[in-house]
Amino acid sequence: MLTIALTKGRILDETLPLLEGAGIRPEEDMRTSRRLVFATNRDNVRLVVLRGSDVPTYVKRGVADFGVVGKDMLLEVGPDDLYELLDLGIAKCRLMTAGPVDADPVVGKKRVATKFTEVARRFYAEQREQVEIVKLYGAMEVAPLLGLADEIVDIVDTGNTLKANGLEPRQWIADISSRLVVNRAAFKTENQPLMQLAQSFAEQLGQNLGGEN
Ligand code: AMP
Repeated sequence: MLTIALTKGRILDETLPLLEGAGIRPEEDMRTSRRLVFATNRDNVRLVVLRGSDVPTYVKRGVADFGVVGKDMLLEVGPDDLYELLDLGIAKCRLMTAGPVDADPVVGKKRVATKFTEVARRFYAEQREQVEIVKLYGAMEVAPLLGLADEIVDIVDTGNTLKANGLEPRQWIADISSRLVVNRAAFKTENQPLMQLAQSFAEQLGQNLGGEN
């Protein structure tokens, strides 16, 4: 049995056509069902829908054979025990810093609100900027509005969410897209169904299978 861990939301929507292209169809509509584990038309493949931050955990522990997850999450949790096989080129966006439009310079240590605390820690350290990081779990845009933080590190696509909250993008941190990841140990065991599926994704995308992080 192959278990594929998918990230719910936008990434799931954009992964379904790739699965379909590989001949895998869930037995129910995954976007409307409340179910979390789905059988498919292929007896040996099941799909599980998770939060992006949990996908690497399931794959690292070998409970899921594959994961489809945003590069933002991979940057945050680190590459241990995971191979990044393919850049699926979906759910593209950027990780950026952002702050209030026309903000005055910050006096003292800048406070940065984000759910990407590790990414932020590394980024500001590389900039040689001392900051205080405030961990949030969502709606980072609210933090500068209410005075919880001077700046945020967040995902930006069109920039509309920032704009609607009086914020503007500042510094680029990374380009993001969804990746197909596999457990390092599982990948080395020459598991045929696993390799065939990975190959099918690669062919649809016109890529060669990778193995980099
Ligand atoms: P936008 O207003 O188009 O810049 O979208 C910004 C918001 O949508 C962010 O706060 C994210 O939470 C979410 N978002 C946009 N693109 C993605 C993506 N590719 N993956 C995950 N979340 C995204």
